[in-house]
Amino acid sequence: TAHEETLGFQTEVKQLLHLMIHSLYSNREIFLRELISNAADACDKLRYAALDNDALYEGDSELRIEIEHDEKTRTVTVRDNGIGMSREEVIKNLGTIARSGTAEFLKQLSGEQQKDARLIGQFGVGFYSSFIVADEVTVRTRKAGGDKAEGVEWRSRGEGEFTVADLEREVHGTEIVLHLKKDAKEFADDFRLRSLVRKYSDHIEVPVRMPKVETARDDEGNEIEGSEVTTWETVNEATALWVRSKGEISDDEYKAFYKHVAHDFSDPLTWSHNKVEGKLEYTSLLYVPGRAPFDLYERDGSRGVKLYVQRVFIMDDAEQFLPLYLRFVKGVLDTRELSLNVSRELLQQDPKVEKIKSALTKRALDMLKKLAKDKEAYQTFWNVFGSVLKEGPAEDFANREKIAALLRFSSTHTDSATQDQSLADYVARMQEGQEKIYYIVADGFNAAKSSPHLEIFRKKGIEVLLLHDRIDEWLMSHLHEFEGKRFVDVAKGELDLGEIEGEDEKKAQEETAKAKEALVKRVKEALGDAVQEVKVTHRLTDSPACVVLPEHEMGFQMRRIMEAAGQ
Ligand code: ADP
Ligand code: MG
Repeated sequence: TAHEETLGFQTEVKQLLHLMIHSLYSNREIFLRELISNAADACDKLRYAALDNDALYEGDSELRIEIEHDEKTRTVTVRDNGIGMSREEVIKNLGTIARSGTAEFLKQLSGEQQKDARLIGQFGVGFYSSFIVADEVTVRTRKAGGDKAEGVEWRSRGEGEFTVADLEREVHGTEIVLHLKKDAKEFADDFRLRSLVRKYSDHIEVPVRMPKVETARDDEGNEIEGSEVTTWETVNEATALWVRSKGEISDDEYKAFYKHVAHDFSDPLTWSHNKVEGKLEYTSLLYVPGRAPFDLYERDGSRGVKLYVQRVFIMDDAEQFLPLYLRFVKGVLDTRELSLNVSRELLQQDPKVEKIKSALTKRALDMLKKLAKDKEAYQTFWNVFGSVLKEGPAEDFANREKIAALLRFSSTHTDSATQDQSLADYVARMQEGQEKIYYIVADGFNAAKSSPHLEIFRKKGIEVLLLHDRIDEWLMSHLHEFEGKRFVDVAKGELDLGEIEGEDEKKAQEETAKAKEALVKRVKEALGDAVQEVKVTHRLTDSPACVVLPEHEMGFQMRRIMEAAGQ
């Protein structure tokens, strides 16, 4: 064949292939979901590109996916008339790991971790999952709108290298032929393929078709030889899932759709599907994943929703519609408020975007509030995404109260490192006369729990929140009250227990302070400029002394963060 070259897979691809083949054996059928998902994406992309240039359809605007199989040759073919790929794109997309961060992540895995099958759920498995069932894969493709001489054939056995060659190809789009391994021949079966299409691809708007062979019969009911007629039959539902009404959609369908949009391998924790009409029209389907993507804390990690305008796919990862602290939310937004020509740059200027963003933010927070009713599920959520949600009060002033109600903390009530106490729980347990919510911030749970600042609170049975995440001090500097109760850092400023303390106690304290004036003076002289002030305190019951920060002073954690930032 013309211009044939053999190239090596990127190291990380080899790693991924290895990881996949060994860990997904019991889940092999997902290869079909991945190939159909790619074919549907390719159709979406062509439809979008053709908005400006109808000629790209090459006279064939009926987008579709076709699946064929042959038991004898043990092959399965997935074909689409979507956007197709150029030679360079084939080499890049099917030879490296294109999605940013994934290759980086794989590079960092140690040998031990590489063996861990569960890791595979952290990234979409994509095209390479073909090699779970195939010992040879052939891809034939041509970019839409190109010349028929610009076709490309890609072949590989998934063992470290692949071959690309020029190909004359009449039609645009992509055809993928899997030559099945012996032990995967079960997939070259009409019934099996049809049920997999229905299981994984009902929600895809592009029709997925399979051939149906019909043979005419004579009057006695015998098949007439040579009368076979093949017709294409659409196997999936072929309506975009979010367009259908909630009542018609099963949980399994919602879950399958999540895996498609989120490139996730595991089930979501929950979802929220809304069709809004009136002043601001949009349909949103938002999900909370069950586990963190590997790039949750990366600056350029993928986030945002899949954006559609009147059912036409516009872009992936449209990040303008959700705040950063909700970056774990995945899903789809379809709206008629934006123009079909909208670009990322235009999104930044459109005032409608801000309106939709605040609506989606509300949806997402409501979804979490609902999830919180299921304690166990919410704890799973919190353990994975809690520290991201804690960025909320700083970023989203308007929704501070709502976010505060979703926070979970460790507390002296349980004395456990698990963050599972809500502020509402705390308030409900407040003592008579208690007006404030007390907390302490420390570098770790044990440091917080055994802080001498807690002595008086423990003695009096007053609950204190034990904050020990890196972000906690930052969080508390943006959170001033909850349900009208002020937050007080027990390690800062004057200790005022308000009404909890009786008059007698207060009097006794004043007397002690008076009696010890001389001692205080000597200590101050001894410490000199190392401290601002020395005082008698009733904070302590066992320890002799402790360091207290002035009320408006930056705390230890913040100081360290500022120092690290060079300030
Ligand atoms: P992902 O779909 O998450 O990007 P995949 O491994 O599934 O990752 O696919 C890699 C890339 O290969 C896709 O992003 C796309 O650019 C390209 N690709 C795969 N299948 C097709 C197809 N049928 N038509 C056009 N491009 C495709
Ligand atoms: Mg894919």
